[in-house]
Amino acid sequence: MKYSEEIHKWHGQTQCEFLAEKLKKRGFDAEICSDPEAFRKYMTTVIKQNETVGLGGSVSIRELELDKALVENGNEVLDHWNSSLSMEEKNAVRDRQLSADVFITGINAITREGQIVNIDGVGNRLAALTFGPKRVFAIAGINKIAGSLDDAMWRIKNIAAPKNAKRLNLSTPCAKTGFCHQCGAETSICRIINILEYKPRQTEYTIVLLPFEVGY
Ligand code: SF4
Repeated sequence: MKYSEEIHKWHGQTQCEFLAEKLKKRGFDAEICSDPEAFRKYMTTVIKQNETVGLGGSVSIRELELDKALVENGNEVLDHWNSSLSMEEKNAVRDRQLSADVFITGINAITREGQIVNIDGVGNRLAALTFGPKRVFAIAGINKIAGSLDDAMWRIKNIAAPKNAKRLNLSTPCAKTGFCHQCGAETSICRIINILEYKPRQTEYTIVLLPFEVGY
């Protein structure tokens, strides 16, 4: 058991260090946080208390309890996953996220060469991670790493999207079989694809790499 844990740890850390160098060559800042506590501490240190923070739809953010940590930090958190909001209120929050001081999102897949791939149904997350907020933090556990852009698309369509469709109780084929069927359904969460090849020119950008598995 001991040997296994050590090897998992070594592998996660080594892959993150390799990726961090690739990301820096693409203009991104890269930070590696060893565990969830170190991650929350880093984020609540680099984000000032008076900054508004938009949260993208991300299971990783919630699993890591960053949403709670930011509220405790005193930040105004713009979170459209707040279940007490009406659809109209959720859309108003999505609008405000586009001009937040800071936007935080998960990543659906990141290639070995540092390309960042995301898919959305509504598109608010892809808009915010491309232009609008002054600073963006995008988070990826090692389970998000894919060998190539083709591998990234396979991972998103056959791992991330089915799990999200199931979580959202959507009537898509992937929520029944666990695999993508290129549905094109009205409820499809795969309507828009965004690939960041390099850092968007006018946004401060940090990719936070986590040497463990988190989110879908
Ligand atoms: S295209 Fe449709 S079936 Fe395929 S992963 Fe997306 S929502 Fe699921």
